[in-house]
Formats: sequence, C-alpha cells, structure tokens
Amino acid sequence: MLKQLLPSRAPAAAEAAARGALRAPGWVSWALWLLAAVVAIGGVALVIERLATRHLEADAARASAAWAEHIGRSVQDVDLVFGGEVPSPAAQDQLTAIRGTANLLRFRLYDTEGRLVLLSESLGTPVAGADERAPHPMAKAAAASTQGQPLAVQLHRSTGQADAPVIYSEAYVAVWHGRTLAGVMGIELDLTDTAELTTASFRRAAGVAAAAMTLLLAAGAALYLQRVRGHRRTEERAHYLAQHDVLTGVLNRDSFRAALTAACAASASHASDAADAAGGAAGADPAPVRRLAVLAVDLNRFSHINDSHGLATGDRLLRDVAQQLRSLVRRDDLLARLSGDQFAVLLRDIDTGADLGAQAERMLAAIAEPRGLPQGGKVQLTACVGAAILGVDGHSAEALLRAADLALQRAKTHGAGRWSYYDASLDQALQERRQLTQELTEALAQDRLRLHFQPVYDGAGALMGYEALARWPHAQRGFVPPAQFVAIAEESGLIAELGRWVLRAACREAASWPAPLHVAVNLSPAQVREGAELLQVVREALATAGLPASRLEVEITESLLMGHDDQVLATLHSLTEMGVRIAMDDFGTGFSSLAYLWRYPFGKVKIDRAFTQRLGSDAKVDLIVRSIVRLAHSLGMRVNAEGVETEQQRAALIGHGCDELQGYLLGKPQPAERLAHREPVALGPVRGELVPA
Ligand code: C2E
Ligand code: CA
Ligand code: CA
Repeated sequence: MLKQLLPSRAPAAAEAAARGALRAPGWVSWALWLLAAVVAIGGVALVIERLATRHLEADAARASAAWAEHIGRSVQDVDLVFGGEVPSPAAQDQLTAIRGTANLLRFRLYDTEGRLVLLSESLGTPVAGADERAPHPMAKAAAASTQGQPLAVQLHRSTGQADAPVIYSEAYVAVWHGRTLAGVMGIELDLTDTAELTTASFRRAAGVAAAAMTLLLAAGAALYLQRVRGHRRTEERAHYLAQHDVLTGVLNRDSFRAALTAACAASASHASDAADAAGGAAGADPAPVRRLAVLAVDLNRFSHINDSHGLATGDRLLRDVAQQLRSLVRRDDLLARLSGDQFAVLLRDIDTGADLGAQAERMLAAIAEPRGLPQGGKVQLTACVGAAILGVDGHSAEALLRAADLALQRAKTHGAGRWSYYDASLDQALQERRQLTQELTEALAQDRLRLHFQPVYDGAGALMGYEALARWPHAQRGFVPPAQFVAIAEESGLIAELGRWVLRAACREAASWPAPLHVAVNLSPAQVREGAELLQVVREALATAGLPASRLEVEITESLLMGHDDQVLATLHSLTEMGVRIAMDDFGTGFSSLAYLWRYPFGKVKIDRAFTQRLGSDAKVDLIVRSIVRLAHSLGMRVNAEGVETEQQRAALIGHGCDELQGYLLGKPQPAERLAHREPVALGPVRGELVPA
C-alpha cells in the first residue's frame, strides 16, 4: 500500500541515490572477500607445501639414522674401515649389499675428524691421501654431536639426468660402534617414490582444506551480505519514513517543502534558459505559459469526523482521500499531507488558466463523493482548495505555500466545497486578523468587553426581556462589529472564553431584572459543539447569578444543525431539560430551515430581519412570514421577528401573528444601566445605541 502511493520523482531519485550510496560499499566488500579467499587458499597451499617438505626431511632423517646404526652394529671391523683401512672382503660384501638396498643411493664414510675415507662407489680402494684432506664441515659437525641423529637433512632435486632420482636427501650421521664413535656416514637417499606418495596425499589434504576454507569463506560472505542487506533495508525504511507520512504514505511536510524548493529552483533556471532562447530567436511565437502551481487542500470539520466516528475511521478516510488525490494527479506531480487534515499538491507544468481550476474542482468533487463506513452508514467529506502559481503569487517554496494557504482561507470564507486563487490583498487581511486576534486576547484578559441588551416586546407592547449582544469598545477602532470579532474568536479558539464570559455576564445582569424578564444569549456553533463543557458553563453561570433557568434563552443558528449531529441534538435536549429555552436565530436565511424545525427542541423561532425589511414591498415575503408563524405555532413554538424599524413593519408582523418583536423601532441595544425596564424611564425614545463611557 505504501509502495503504491510512492508518489514522486524527487523522493524516488533521493531514494535511488541513497540505495546507490549503500551499494558502493557492497561491491568493495565483495572484492575484499574475494581477495581474502585467494590469500587464504594460497596460504593453505603454502603451508601444505612446507609440511610435505618437513615430512620428507623427517623421513630421510629417520632412514639415515637407521642406516648409520646398522653399519655401526653389523659391518665387520667397522673401526678399521673408518680408520681408513681397506675393508675386508666380508665387510665389502656387507657394504655393497647395503648400497643396493632399498632407496640408499650412495654413501661416504668419514673418520672421526670428518675426513673422507671411503666412497660407496669404490669400496675396494680407500680414498687416497685421506689424511691430508680437509675435513667435511657437516661430517665434522656430525662427529662432534653426541646423537645418533643427523644434524640436518638437505633435500636436492636433480635436473636433466635421465636415470637420476628426482629428489634425494643428503645427511651426515655419527656411526657408533658400541660406545665408541667409529666415524661419520654421509648418506644420500633416493626420495623420489616417497616424495610422490607424500605430495599426492598432501595435495589431497590441501584440496580438502581449500574446499573447507572456500566453504567457510562462502558461508561468512553469505552471512555478511545478509547483514549488509538487512542493514540496507533498515536504512531504506528509515529513509522512507523520514520522507513520508506514515498514515497515508504520501510525502510529509518537510520532504514536500524540499521537493518544492528544488522544483522552484529548476523552474527558475529553465525560465532563464527559455528567455535566452527567445532572445536568440526574435520574432518567433512565444511558448504558451505553463507553470508550476501549488494547491492547498483542507478537509472541512474533520476533527468532527474523528470525534463522532472514531480515530480509526478518521485514519481510514484520510488514507482514502490521499489515494484519491494521488489518482487525480500525474506521476510527476507531488502529493503531501502537511498536517492532520491538510494536503498539498505540486502540479508541474500546468496551464494556469482553465486546467488549474478544473484540477481543483476535480479534487473537490472526488472528496465530496459519499464514502461507506465499516460500521455501516455513509459519510460525506467536504474540502476547500487554495491555489498559488509560481512566478505569479510567489517565487519561492515558502512564498508559494503561504500564498496557497491564504487562498485556502479565502476559499473557506466562501463555504465548503469551494476553491480560490491567491489574492495579494489577502495578505493584508491576514495581518489585520492576526493583530485583531492578539488584541481580542488582551481585551478578554483585561475584561474590556461589554454587553448591550436589546429589548424584546410582545405584540401588545409588554417587555418580555432582552437579547444580550457583545460589544468590544476599542480605543482606536471604536466598536469592533461583533460579527467580526466573534468570527475571529471562533477561528482562534478564543470562542470558549468569550462565550463563557457572555453567559456569566448576561446571567448576572438578568438576575437584577424583575421576573419574569428573560435574557437571550447568542451561542456560536463551536460553543454548542463543545457539548458537556457548554452545559457545565450554563449551569455554573445560572447558579452563580441565582437566575432560574427558565429566564435564560439561548439563540443558535441553522448552520449548527447542518451536520445532523447527534451530539448537538443531545446537548440541545440537555439544555431544554435544564429549563433553558432554545431559539433558532436568523430563521429563513439558511437551507431547508423548515425541515429542521420539528427535529429539534426549539421553543422559539426568530424570523431574520431580511424578511422584516421586505414586508409590504414583496407580497411573497408576507406569505412566507405567515407560513412560518403558522408552522411554528403548530409545532408549539413562539415566533420573534427581528429588525423592526417602522410602524408598518410592526403592524404587519402583529397581523401575521408574531408573538415577539425586536428592532430599532422598539429599542436599540443599550448598556445595562439604560434599559427600558428601569424606573424612571426619563430618557425618552432612544435615538442611537449608546456607547459606555
Ligand atoms: P443577531 O444575533 O442576529 O443579532 C441581532 C443583530 O441585529 C445585532 O447586531 C443588532 O444590533 C442588530 N439589530 C437589532 N435590531 C435591528 C434593527 O432594527 N435594524 C438593524 N439593521 N439591525 C438591528 P450586532 O449586535 O452587530 O450583532 C451581530 C451578530 O453578532 C449577532 O446577530 C450575533 O450573531 C453575533 N453576536 C453578537 N453578540 C454575540 C455574542 O455574545 N455571542 C455570539 N456567539 N454571537 C454574538
Ligand atoms: Ca441573536
Ligand atoms: Ca438574528
């Protein structure tokens, strides 16, 4: 699966390079092994050769000693013979017999001083002038030795002569007659046959040893190679993991950034080459503009999927999406997962006009295809896409990623399933948002937010309560519109804190009003999705203020209900069970409003001021308002109409059966100390929303 998703050329090349780097020492080690094998086998051959020679020498030494002993023991008048006298015929016969025996080639007899006295070839004639001869050094040395063993055996190889032995030994051994030294015998033994036998058996042994050696080396080499391969596989795996996202198998953030940087650089040099070529070929048609583009793809509300279906399902869906995106891009293009639910795509060489938009739309459509869940049922994901083009929206990887991200933010403001190009003005808007987020954090920490309250009346003009509306008086910006800072709070995660503050402040204020005046508090969808935490905050705010739950109303908008979320439904039911009333705000501005009404425990519907404002001028609007009122009443809900600015609107709304009215005509949002129920109301009709000092 991971292999299947192996996405790109750049990481593939990097992997190949890494494999190459690992392979080089593999070849070197092979050569080393071969050399070691040759050296080892050569060494074995040499040792065996030496052993064979030693064996021959030892053999010759033993035989020579035996001959010397034999002569000393059995030849008649041996002392006289060594003394230089002509051997008796019996002694001559004995010596002739010895010479012809076995492998004894010839011998020479020396006196105790080492002087030659007799040659085996001429036994009848002692060596003339033996007394004057210089003693033979080896014979002299042998005579001086007290042992009956030769001092040293020399091996000789004859060359050329036809009937000469191939190899023979020469040794000098002392000859003892009883306990007296008779002389020294120089013995030459024909070792040709013995050598042949020895060499043959040693060669066999050498063969066996070499084979064993080869086997050992081969086994060692195999083991070594196995280890190297294992090591290489581990390194490849580590390398792969360092470059890829483990969950989906696509590139990770770092390797995507690296690949994008490389692609930007390559594109820059390609562009300058192309410019040179164009300069050279003046008058030729310019090539069509195809560029590198980056798409940032973000899944909407994916954390919600994780929460409601579990992490395992979330992971499966992410893998699914990755595979789908992979199938939509070319082999050359790159796909990466940048964070939890955000992907990025690098498209090379794309026509940045129609093709880029078509590509974004294809991706959005693919992601929006319903997906089956393992536990049954289906889920539909949505996404937004931001597009940035190299050379247009940025010149570096960093700039492109940032531009694509800003384009993505822009797409998100248009809603799920949308895509957008980068727009430079977004950059400024983003800076501004960052600044505001920072300032809102401080304002919350320093308790600088305020609540204004807008009165709600019934059809007969009796005051029913107030809607609490948050106000942020800002030293430089004046009042920051709540729609703006609430959105910032939602984006930055400050909404929980803001919501908590509003609920506490509203309940505290309402507790000082005469019963049964109620306070209506706006809840942001993010707050309601917190579920348990919201219930806890509401309970605590009511208890601390000492306000009965029946005097608190919460207003939610349709967008919260779009996901058909069971948890949201449960939270709303819990609120109703606590005795808190739920009103659906801005009714009629979302989709399929009517379809939701019966499924949720609303006590009230607030008709959006867009309808109020078009009453009387558009007959259809009157009809719609009347239908809403009838439907709500039939479901046991009250109806509030917002944005009442004129007498005519008020009259029409009362005529259509609205239960409550709210709007500038009846009262603008005001700080708590100026509220209509306070006595005496000496301020007269309020013209504008007052700013707290
Ligand atoms: P909303 O809940 O629909 O609040 C009614 C908005 O209409 C208020 O704007 C109010 O000042 C304005 N309004 C009331 N009567 C009239 C009228 O006769 N004519 C016109 N043209 N406007 C009228 P505001 O205070 O700027 O609030 C805007 C939105 O900000 C609110 O819409 C609400 O969605 C949100 N908001 C305000 N305070 C909070 C808060 O504490 N928490 C949350 N979550 N959202 C808040
Ligand atoms: Ca409201
Ligand atoms: Ca409203």
